[in-house]
Formats: sequence, structure tokens, C-alpha cells
Amino acid sequence: MNAYPLKPGPAIVKLLINGEFVDSQSRDWREVINPATQEVLARVPFATAAEVEAAIAAAQAAFAGWKNTPLSARMRIMLKFQELIRANLPRIAKTLTAEQGKTLADAEGDIFRGLEVVEHACSIGTLQLGEFAENVAGGVDTYTLRQPIGVCAGITPFNFPAMIPLWMFPMAIVCGNTFVLKPSEQDPLSTMQLVELALEAGIPNGVLNVVHGGKEVVDMLCTHERIKAVSFVGSTAVGTHVHRLASEHGKRVQAMMGAKNHAVVLPDANREQTVNALVGAGFGAAGQRCMATSVAVLVGAASAWLPDIVERARTLKVNAGCEPGTDIGPVISRAAQARILGLIESGVREGAKLVLDGRGILVPGYPQGNFIAPTLFADVSTEMEIYRQEIFGPVLLVLTVDTLDEAIALVNRNPFGNGVGLFTQSGAAARKFQSEIDVGQVGINVPIPVPLPFFSFTGSRGSKLGDLGPYGKQVVQFYTQTKTVTARWFDDETAEGGVNTTIRL
Ligand code: NAD
Repeated sequence: MNAYPLKPGPAIVKLLINGEFVDSQSRDWREVINPATQEVLARVPFATAAEVEAAIAAAQAAFAGWKNTPLSARMRIMLKFQELIRANLPRIAKTLTAEQGKTLADAEGDIFRGLEVVEHACSIGTLQLGEFAENVAGGVDTYTLRQPIGVCAGITPFNFPAMIPLWMFPMAIVCGNTFVLKPSEQDPLSTMQLVELALEAGIPNGVLNVVHGGKEVVDMLCTHERIKAVSFVGSTAVGTHVHRLASEHGKRVQAMMGAKNHAVVLPDANREQTVNALVGAGFGAAGQRCMATSVAVLVGAASAWLPDIVERARTLKVNAGCEPGTDIGPVISRAAQARILGLIESGVREGAKLVLDGRGILVPGYPQGNFIAPTLFADVSTEMEIYRQEIFGPVLLVLTVDTLDEAIALVNRNPFGNGVGLFTQSGAAARKFQSEIDVGQVGINVPIPVPLPFFSFTGSRGSKLGDLGPYGKQVVQFYTQTKTVTARWFDDETAEGGVNTTIRL
């Protein structure tokens, strides 16, 4: 099965409905564009309402059989799936770099972090366990069943086209649910390659379906009566809309959203490692990671480290992601580039000090690329547009404060609460920080503290809505319904006569 037969011209991205890769009948199409060259790699349809309806109907029809498929059979499909992802990782990474722009090494990391979730899904036998209490009353036992909930939907962003779809459908499916995935329309090709492998691994027809599109398709998934749960990852504006709409329609919703991640640097930190960490986390993937460091808060004497940060950032190599030795590829689109450049302009206008200007970079061989080189602002205040908005580009802001308490208060006042880092050699400072900071992912001398799949991704304030996060134990709870059974079995000797009209067992 190959969704992309080789033929002249851009490939046509298919829908996946009931196990078949099908051509959309839509009149509304977008182009998937290589951000380093502007080459049109493929055309992606915005599915029609009838096609979305067909995908949901296929998922609904498949649920009856799939929920009763033995746990070990579901687990073995995930075992096969992880093996296939591993074998195809270099091929998918090339596609991912071509459509998304990030470096090949980072594209491999994107797939690998998703692969780890699939590996974790192989442990479903010990994750989807209920509880049992014997003799809650004489001869009475209580136990829980963790049952799949039905058709689940996933809506994913452009910045991790492998990892984030893999946060969602493997865990939903291994729990016994069926799934409708709506990938990012900006880079759906690597997602579709993973979906092909999922079918090859043995996921039955209708259990996994894919529709493409934008707001109309998303709104249909959020309101359709057959959909029981919606997983969303993307911006705060869209996530808030998805959370509200799907909640109003009685669905479980998890919405992982935007970020403004701070790194707080105390003067006792290891200077060399900290500067490297700030520059790597600030500019890696062109700043388009939800966990990218976008604000460095230098505390006290650490403010003297600014020149080191600028010099280190200057050494990063900007080029197409497919070129060896590249540190930073292009940003996803011309529109994203224009938005980021507009925000840099606003920073200059509002009086921040542009200590490293990445605008106007020319990359030999790639004159059409959406490149922005590392950009650093000092003397930033919290009222400025560049501080208040998520820039989602290779732009790092540097602020200075006098004390750790001030730094904590500053981070906690920001509307977002996705990731944060503290750099220090003091255990006492680290302990105070982890306790008082109101942010989901906390790194202590770790710049991008994305938890591995035995834990769950989380977030605070404007970065997350819904209580249960992706992967780990939380997502098993999200994708299952608890049923509590209280049972008494009589035999002839224990059977008692008489009617009991109280609530006692
Ligand atoms: P986005 O919100 O623009 O798009 C996300 C998804 O929503 C896409 O599938 C898109 O097609 C769909 N969509 C877009 N506009 C819509 C609308 N008006 N109504 C309904 N659906 C719509 O996000 P993006 O630009 O693809 O991704 C970047 C954002 O994702 C950043 O804000 C980043 O911080 C965030 N992100 C968060 C996490 C996390 O775990 N917290 C992880 C990755 C990315």
C-alpha cells in the first residue's frame, strides 16, 4: 500500500477511510511547500463534510470489533509498528525535513520521540489495569474495568508532524478505541508515511482514519455526536476554541497549547553548559518547538553572561535542513517568516536592544528559503509585544532581575505555563523553584525537559486546557472509561433470606 505513487507533478495527499487511501472529492486544496526552496511537494485536500462523515462512520463501525480484540493482540500490533518505524526512520526523516524545514538530525529526533510513545504503548497490558478490593462487605467484592470510550479524534500542529500524531493515535488505539486523525495541513506527508506503517503493522480497517482540512473539519470533529474525545495540540487561540466547542458537545478534551518558555539563570550555574543550553534550546528547530526557550532571565551577576550568549548564537549555521552541518533551518512558511519579522520590528520600535539581528540573511544555494538567523534582544520589558506574544521563531529575549524570587514572580505572571528551566548548582534554589513555579514542565539544568512516555506531558495556565495530558498514565485514563463493579456470589450455604431496604451491602 503506498499513498504516494510516483508520478509527475506534486503528489496528492490521500484521505484514509476504512483502511483505504482515497482521493478527496474536495474543491478546496492547499500546497505542501518545502520551506527551504518553495518547491511544491504535494497538494492536500480540505476534506468535504461527507468525507469526514465517512471517516467517523468507519471508525464507529470498527469500534465494536476492535474493543473486543484481546489486549495482547493490540499490543503485538504496536510491537510491529515500533519495529517498522525504526526501520523506516531515515526515509521518513527526509520527508519531514523537506516539508517542515528542520535539520535531518532533528527530524530523526522528532520521529524518535514519537517512537518512544509507541514503545510505551506495547506495555498496555500493565497500563490498562483495573483495581480490585476483596470483601468490601461480607462476600462482596468491588473491582474496576478500564474500558475504551469509542471514536476519538486528534488534531495536530505543524512543528512535530511525527511526534505529536504518535502522542495520540497509538495510545488511543491500543486502549481499544478507534481514531480519526486530522494532521497539520502544512506538513502532512511524514504523518501519512507513519499512518501507512501503522496499517502495515496490522491496524484493522476503520480503526485508524485520516482526514485533512482546517477549521471546518476541526469543528465537525468537535461537534459530531459519535466522537467521544478530542486531543488537540497547537496554538492557544485554536486550542481554546477546540476545548470550548468540544466540551460544549459533551466530549472529553485535552488541549495542549502555546508557550513562552523562560530559562532562569543563577550566577552559580555552570557558565559554559548554561550558555550552550540557552543557545541550543532558544534557536534549535528555528525556535519552532513548543518547548523552545524564548526568554532568558539572567539573575544578578549572571547578567554579565549576555556577550557570551550573543557570541555563541552567532556561531550557529543557518542552512537548508538537508545540508550537513546545519544548526537552523528555515521557518515553516512565508507567512510565518513575515509574522516573525514583524514582531522583531515591533521589538525595535518599542525600544528593546537588538544585540543580534538575524534579519536579511542570505543562504547560498537557497535564495527562496524562509530563513531567519538567530536574533537576540536585550533590555526587554514585560509590556513589549515581543514578550507578550509567542514568537515561535529563532528569537531569544534576555531580561535581567536581581533575585530568584523576582525571577519566579516574573515567570508566574506570564500568561503561558508550558516549560521552564533553572540553571544553578544550588539544590536549595532548585527545590524552591520547582515548588513555587507555576509551569508544567520544569527543567533543572535541563533546557528542554520533555518527559519520556512513562510520564505525561502537561502544562499550566494558557498552555493547557483539560486535566489529563498526552501519553503516560494520564492518557490511559483519558482514553478509557472506568466502570465500577460490585459483585456478590451466593452459594446455598451463604444465601440469606429477607428483604433489605437500607443502602448497606
Ligand atoms: P495551530 O493552532 O495553527 O494549528 C493546530 C491545528 O489546528 C492544525 O491541525 C490546524 O489545521 C488546526 N487549525 C488551525 N486554525 C484553526 C481554526 N481556526 N479552527 C480550528 N482548527 C484550526 O498551530 P500550529 O501553528 O500548527 O502549531 C504551533 C503551535 O502549537 C504553537 O503555538 C506551539 O506552542 C503549539 N504547540 C504546543 C505543544 C504543547 O504540547 N503544548 C506542542 C507543539 C506545538
